[in-house]
Amino acid sequence: MDKLRQRAATLIADGTVAFVIGYEEGTNKPRPIFCHTAEEAGKLIYNSQCIHNLAVYLTKKELLGTEKVAITATIPALRSILQLAVENQLNQEKLLVLTVTDKDELKEFANFAEIEAYIAGIQLKLDGKEQEIITKLEGMSREERWKFWTEEMSHCFKCYACRAACPLCYCTKCIVEVNRPQWINPWSAPLANMEWQINRAMHLAGRCTGCGACADACPVGIPIDLLTRKMMEDLGPEFGFVPGQPSHNGNPLSTWKADDKENFIK
Ligand code: SF4
Ligand code: SF4
Repeated sequence: MDKLRQRAATLIADGTVAFVIGYEEGTNKPRPIFCHTAEEAGKLIYNSQCIHNLAVYLTKKELLGTEKVAITATIPALRSILQLAVENQLNQEKLLVLTVTDKDELKEFANFAEIEAYIAGIQLKLDGKEQEIITKLEGMSREERWKFWTEEMSHCFKCYACRAACPLCYCTKCIVEVNRPQWINPWSAPLANMEWQINRAMHLAGRCTGCGACADACPVGIPIDLLTRKMMEDLGPEFGFVPGQPSHNGNPLSTWKADDKENFIK
């Protein structure tokens, strides 16, 4: 931790970066901090409770400005950074990525290729409870799955915390706010909730990196990440990407190839 604080303080003091995004102690658990001074860098921490996916801030132009910034990235955040990079949302020259290894060593990445090599051997895993739900869903009929998700979504009150927490939800205008035409009813009701969540899942199809930030942010505990994570696992073999690794073949729903099988058209 001392090395992280020292390095962050040096980066700020010598002007290499305008600020460092990281974690500090919060009331009950670590919270994000934006260190603009060496003194603030002294508050940085990094431990297993640092679960906010800080990569979500990397597409906030109003926050970042045009200067170079550094970020303390967990493994899920590193995955998000790579996906944002393949979607051309990040400028490598303006970003310095740091992490702390499981041996408590500070690691600094020179480029996105180094990050990709680093996470290549780290398998994306669901925790026990999430795997249990996925296994249960896989054993259900289509009607039973629809009932499961309708029941879960009935608790949604459209706070959009899941969207705000997701690093890959970076559109400046979300479809839920488009009202000419009004594609999705803005109020919370069973059909409107399903419309919103199906749209969200489809927008993230094959792009979700499985960080779980959306589910962690949901105040009513909907396991919303499982929709997009399951899609990621199902689409991976079809579209030639490994779940949790960036797809260099383009995103499934936004890339067209002349030799697409199109066997989904019936
Ligand atoms: S798990 Fe949720 S927050 Fe993380 S990338 Fe997927 S949809 Fe976004
Ligand atoms: S965070 Fe939960 S309650 Fe809020 S919009 Fe997302 S699913 Fe609905």
